[in-house]
Amino acid sequence: MIELNVAINNKCYANSEKAVLAQLDFTVKQGEFVAIVGPSGCGKSTLLNMISGLESCSGQHISYNESDLQEGITSNKALHQLGYIFQQPRLMPWLTVRENIELILPPEQFDQIDDLLAQVGLANEGEYFPSQLSGGMQRRVSIARAFAINPQLLLLDEPFNSLDAPTASRLRQLLIDLCEQRGTTVVFVTHDLQEAVYLADRIIFMSDSPSTIVHQSIIDLPRPRKESGVSELAWQAQLLFKYPRLLAGRID
Ligand code: ADP
Repeated sequence: MIELNVAINNKCYANSEKAVLAQLDFTVKQGEFVAIVGPSGCGKSTLLNMISGLESCSGQHISYNESDLQEGITSNKALHQLGYIFQQPRLMPWLTVRENIELILPPEQFDQIDDLLAQVGLANEGEYFPSQLSGGMQRRVSIARAFAINPQLLLLDEPFNSLDAPTASRLRQLLIDLCEQRGTTVVFVTHDLQEAVYLADRIIFMSDSPSTIVHQSIIDLPRPRKESGVSELAWQAQLLFKYPRLLAGRID
């Protein structure tokens, strides 16, 4: 299992001198589900891209289990510990559902695909092409693909955006079940506080860019939770009563 350590100080993109992320210091414990909530443009995707190694971490410190991620990511072992679910499913349109998952697995693991498709409710759709699936089904393929490598660290970037409410709700439950079964460490980016309260053990709130952490909350509500449960909604209301501008990245 993976513990993630992040220490970012003045992260700039190569084409700009202005920092996107001013200062972010946090640890995600093994098996912990952390939600990152912040206003649009504050650098949430940048943060996930840095953790995944897609964006440069030069001069920054991001490590898991005390080994440096940038060095570790080049080894197959480290790559196979990291799953990333993007805002869009990003499936290869010319490959079937099964082939999309085969693409990231060694052939000796292809026999797991049937089980995995059954777990995400796509037991009969393995031979379909992405264009033959609904948006919700395509997301389920992207979830199956991410879990195919049995990731120890899973990154999600607003994965249920733009889905209808019942589909998003089913996929959140699927995510909870898979993460609980496998003890996955999760960093989940969202701008939806209700979603964060439903899913996470802890929420990190970011300010506007150049961003810092303005607040952290441990969600001490028992599981299983309800998306619109009385305790969940009351927890949210209390927090926003105390910090009315928290979702805009401010605690003043
Ligand atoms: P969020 O996910 O919170 O909406 P992003 O991480 O996508 O925010 O973007 C944060 C800031 O970084 C924005 O101002 C955006 O324009 C800028 N940005 C994102 N990607 C790049 C890039 N590749 N080059 C330069 N600036 C970028």
